[in-house]
Amino acid sequence: MGSLLVNIGYFIAAIVFIYSLKSMSHPSTARKGIHYGGLAMVLAVVITIFHPAITHHAFLTNLLLIVIAIGIGFVIAKRSALKVEMTDMPQMIAIYNGVGGGAAAIIGAIALLQIGMPDANDSSRTLLLAALGGFIGAVSFTGSIVAWAKLDGRMTSTIRYKNRNIVNLFLFGFALLLAILLASEPAPHYFMLFLFFAFTLALGVLIAIPIGGADMPVIISLFNALTGIAVAFEGIALDNGGLIIAGTVVGAAGTLLTLLMAKAMNRSLSNVLFSNFGESKSEAGDIEGSMTESDAANAAMTMAYADRVIIVPGYGLAAAQAQHKVAELVKILESRGVDVRFAIHPVAGRMPGHMNVLLAESGIPYESIFDLDEINDEFKDTDVVLVIGANDVVNPVARTDKSSPIYGMPILNADQAKQVFVIKRGQGSGFSGIENHLFYLDNTDMVYGDAQKVVNEMITTLKSL
Ligand code: NDP
Repeated sequence: MGSLLVNIGYFIAAIVFIYSLKSMSHPSTARKGIHYGGLAMVLAVVITIFHPAITHHAFLTNLLLIVIAIGIGFVIAKRSALKVEMTDMPQMIAIYNGVGGGAAAIIGAIALLQIGMPDANDSSRTLLLAALGGFIGAVSFTGSIVAWAKLDGRMTSTIRYKNRNIVNLFLFGFALLLAILLASEPAPHYFMLFLFFAFTLALGVLIAIPIGGADMPVIISLFNALTGIAVAFEGIALDNGGLIIAGTVVGAAGTLLTLLMAKAMNRSLSNVLFSNFGESKSEAGDIEGSMTESDAANAAMTMAYADRVIIVPGYGLAAAQAQHKVAELVKILESRGVDVRFAIHPVAGRMPGHMNVLLAESGIPYESIFDLDEINDEFKDTDVVLVIGANDVVNPVARTDKSSPIYGMPILNADQAKQVFVIKRGQGSGFSGIENHLFYLDNTDMVYGDAQKVVNEMITTLKSL
């Protein structure tokens, strides 16, 4: 296929990629968006096979390897995607992202190993881009693996040592220097290449190990952006339009998402990367008042006779897989004339859109789901707020206590409602590890138990009325 046809093909794939991203920005079109994304990816892979840079001979000799690699990837991806729980999505994204970074690193390594070969494109500009792509890809590869291990509970400790930022800065500087030297060599320099990848792979690990659990989704998004940039660099080095476009789109989307998440937590990216967030824990003893306990039946009766109810879902709802029961509860309340809405915090759950997807999956209409900005003024006129497995996103300390690590994070004003019921299993703190002052207020009652079980008990009570 001629180069013009290949580029037209990549152009069409790029449009489908962008349309896919646009569709993913709303729950009602997200599923369609995923399908379009897959279609664009298949298109890009097929077009690449006909890329003029791939000679007939190279294509035939590598065809078997390509088919085997695609086959292995297909089986692993299909099995893991069908099996994964909604709560495990962030770690799945982390590992997929790591694989992308690793692939970019390998492309960079091959370009540097081919210096001086007859068909190699070894202008120093091309080689420098290949080396930089390899650098970023290798950092993203090992960093994403650490992120996956932490989110999957395989690595529980957060390793922080003195002067770690200086160590990272030195590693970064050395690796950058090696990238420049490697790109200007007339032939492959194996020892330097080994050192280069040892430093960049180590840097990825060292960046990720001090990051606390609460910040891991932000870091995954950052590594995702880095993978995109690495792929785009390799695309320029290989003169491959498909890689350039896909990499740029991923890089831009990942960067925006990283910044949006940091903003929703009122943190700067440097604070996420370099601070000791999550180390200070507030004690229950610091808080006035005490927690009062209620039960599912009492909470259900109160909601049944209320005019307005707001439900605040959080990570615990996802962990308990309670979304279908919640949808049933809402139907019963609405059939009694109660106005029920959902308030979604931008970082409720473990990744952006986590709650919206769960609620959409259980058939809750989009008109009942409101973002923080849309609904926050309405809590004060609400009879009952039902918090289901949410914690940090309703902690009023974010508004009042300047010494709190979550100070300044916008929160849902659940505490302003007449009555609040909180469903959670026990007195455990939220993702950030700090105590929640909402639970100690006079207008708050705790309903202890697994979210799905408690909501089911509420449904039973309502049905008996
Ligand atoms: P939190 O992790 O703060 O709280 C979840 C609560 O759910 C816990 O207190 C836990 O209490 C309870 N819980 C867990 N399992 C169950 C269960 N089976 N049934 C009932 N309750 C359960 O979650 P939020 O959604 O409120 O906050 C999200 C956190 O994630 C924030 O700290 C945010 O900054 C962070 N984060 C989110 C990102 C995103 O994009 N969404 C990105 C980065 C960070 P107990 O153990 O007592 O049951």
